[in-house]
Amino acid sequence: MRSIGIGALVVFLTAVNVAGQTSMPTPAEGPTSGSQMTASRSLDVKAAVDAYLAKMPPAQRARSNSYFEGGYWLQLWDFLLTVIVMWLLLRLRVSARMRNLAERLTRFRPLQTLLYWLQFIVVVSVVTFPLGLYEGYFREHKYGLLNQTFGPWMRDQMVMLLVSMILGAVLLVPLFGLVRRLGKNWWVWGAALMIVFAAFVGLIAPVYIAPLFNKYTPLRDASIREPILSMARANGIPAKDVYEFDASRQSNRVSANVSGFAGTLRISLNDNLLKRCTLPEIETTMGHEMGHYVLNHAYKGLVMIGVVIVIGFAFINWGVNASLARWGEMWGVRGIGDVAVLPLAVILFSAYFFLATPVNNTITRTMEYEADMYGLNAARQPDGEANVDMLLGEYRKLDPGPVEEFLFYDHPSGRTRITAAMRWKAEHLETENAEEMARPLFAPQ
Ligand SMILES: [Zn+2]
Repeated sequence: MRSIGIGALVVFLTAVNVAGQTSMPTPAEGPTSGSQMTASRSLDVKAAVDAYLAKMPPAQRARSNSYFEGGYWLQLWDFLLTVIVMWLLLRLRVSARMRNLAERLTRFRPLQTLLYWLQFIVVVSVVTFPLGLYEGYFREHKYGLLNQTFGPWMRDQMVMLLVSMILGAVLLVPLFGLVRRLGKNWWVWGAALMIVFAAFVGLIAPVYIAPLFNKYTPLRDASIREPILSMARANGIPAKDVYEFDASRQSNRVSANVSGFAGTLRISLNDNLLKRCTLPEIETTMGHEMGHYVLNHAYKGLVMIGVVIVIGFAFINWGVNASLARWGEMWGVRGIGDVAVLPLAVILFSAYFFLATPVNNTITRTMEYEADMYGLNAARQPDGEANVDMLLGEYRKLDPGPVEEFLFYDHPSGRTRITAAMRWKAEHLETENAEEMARPLFAPQ
């Protein structure tokens, strides 16, 4: 169950997702030095990229494209559905009635906010459930991307709803307290509260939220763990923080992530990556994740998204006041400190984040590209990197146009990433890995 703009934020903060990078130094081959080899041989980068892209059979490529492009439209439908549902809550005075009920049950204002919120999220979750069911269950199955039967999938949805209830309350109760106390300057402190909340969610997510959906265990296989720990030590990363989790519970997607802040920062790789990838591919992926860690992407992301949030709150403040002056009476909403204003705030926040999609995507995509560069240099496995990028192409269109990539991609496309890998390889031809180049990644169709 998608719960509103908070969802986007939580997603952003908890999962600076996936990547691919490569691995370990291959033993030096023969007596020729690297520089001599480079002088005698050169690499046609574009041809090398096309050779990798050709590893995916055309039918599978078409399916991946259609899955990803459909996602563009889903973003629009999600947004429109949110606007319609929120507008109906206002227009039919459902929101005002939920507030009245909360006021009848208690005189204590923070508790009124809480009681309103619980009614709100249950009503919204029920009304938007059909679209969520199609998007998250039927559509994922149609494209062969979901391993779950309905029962376990629904269980995950219910857990997510519970988490949203709690986190939403943690945010909204103090937020409405601020609005009532501070009047028209609420949005400055409100934005600050939102940023602190985002950091808080990022801090607790790896330890308290992620384990509700997957089992995290320390990576045990020494033949994989040792090279990763060696690379971690070389890059100044606390070496114990490598975890694996059972993502195959949900899907076959290959991924890894860095999550958390300060004491909870951790690097995790999923069991699909372990099952489906070679050591050079795992190493390049870990190099990428270590890049997020070393480059402090969690903190930089928070600062950049913080700017987006401050502007967003200023916009909400303006939009709420303008709308209430015109329709407040009709909706039964008394003012900006009245919790019944929430659907209006959600409309404005969703519209803002919908329009800011390319901005937010560019913030994350830029950091992902940085992590790619870091991983190439840390792991020195450009061919392993290219193979991982191809596997990610199962659920992300491999070769979009530049405008499409700018607007819709929160990670670089397969072509962009493989081009970076081959460009790197062209300057480090001694790292070429013939086995990786020849390895078939997809079953012939
Ligand atoms: Zn990443």
